Amino acid sequence: MTRSISILGATGSIGDSTLDLIRGERGKWRVVALTANCAAKKLAELAREFGAEVAVVGDESSLEELREYLSGTGIEAAGGAQALCEAASRPADITVAAIVGCAGLAPTMAAIEQGNTVALANKEALVSAGEVMTAKVAQHGTTLLPVDSEHNAIFQCLQGNAVEDVRWITLTASGGPLRTKSYAELDATTPAQAVAHPNWDMGAKISVDSATMMNKGLEFIEAHHLFPVGLDRLRIVVHPQSVIHSMVEYRDGSTLAQLGPSDMRVPIASALAHPARMDTNCKPLDLTEIGELSFFAPDEERFPATRLAREAAHAGGAAPAVLNAANEVAVAAFLAGQVKFTQISAITARTLDNYAPDAPQTLDAVLAVDAEARTRAMHMLEPA
Ligand code: NAD
Ligand code: MG
Repeated sequence: MTRSISILGATGSIGDSTLDLIRGERGKWRVVALTANCAAKKLAELAREFGAEVAVVGDESSLEELREYLSGTGIEAAGGAQALCEAASRPADITVAAIVGCAGLAPTMAAIEQGNTVALANKEALVSAGEVMTAKVAQHGTTLLPVDSEHNAIFQCLQGNAVEDVRWITLTASGGPLRTKSYAELDATTPAQAVAHPNWDMGAKISVDSATMMNKGLEFIEAHHLFPVGLDRLRIVVHPQSVIHSMVEYRDGSTLAQLGPSDMRVPIASALAHPARMDTNCKPLDLTEIGELSFFAPDEERFPATRLAREAAHAGGAAPAVLNAANEVAVAAFLAGQVKFTQISAITARTLDNYAPDAPQTLDAVLAVDAEARTRAMHMLEPA
């Protein structure tokens, strides 16, 4: 029996890993939609290889190029924000939401409205939309499967257990490439140093988020929406080896953990095959080779991002959307060489301090908060 799949953000790191798994089981899958932002050539090659029904570029100016690469194939080509949502709303048994940033929110919501299964990698969408997204999931009876390795681990550790019995959910954090750096060294960090993650090979934005620890901050908020145990039962532990992907402690004192190699194909495979299992050709975990696992409390003096995210989570309403938007702007500015590494969290904090709109109740309201927070964060990039 074949299953149909769409991949939003097919040309990125998560897209690559997902398609690698599909490549290993070609006969089992029918590819509906593949999307990208502007990587028309790569998208067209993937659409041809997998016989996709439709290929979509978010950036309309890349559509002409996409059309040329796909001419004569019978694969539909489309471009623009609306086309992304249209493609996401085409029936598919499973949609992998792997666009980076709040840019993925509207297409992810369109996929949720189908009422099938959405495998969520695009954490920024859930952080920004929060209850608006979880309400949509409930309304359409959609199955939301977490792809983020920590949340996938927690999801697995919760199977067969009751949320009421959870004492703690512990998100593990590698601490990123700058974990042991002094504040002065952090201040002088270049984009190349920040994206050089010791354990994971990921897109640039999430790599910077890992270096600032905002990735864990966003994941804290993501966990709060996916696993309603209450904010006070969520905590973060730094675990540099990234072997334990997260843990759940129950009220009887038992802690369940999920372990695996630092390879996103493992959590993606768990979502694709859920509730069954599928083969991956990932390097098996060799604990004797790893030798030791270590754990530390996060240092929120050098890495204030987890504190900012926790405060935004407690404030609720629009705060997480403001946090996320400001962080996206600041990370892009850092990658463009416009601001220093330590300014990323400072800009995010200042945006949160001067913009506190009412809680958004609809997708459009979330997008409006996101847009306004971006404008405000952008102003902070200008020299005083
Ligand atoms: P990436 O930068 O490698 O890929 C992003 C994808 O989104 C690309 O296909 C790109 O074309 C598309 N895209 C970017 N901007 C767009 C826009 N404005 N409109 C439409 N499409 C756009 O990113 P990634 O590392 O694959 O991460 C994707 C998402 O998954 C992020 O939300 C990230 O936090 C999450 N995630 C990634 C990893 C990982 O290991 N890479 C792990 C956990 C979670
Ligand atoms: Mg993660």
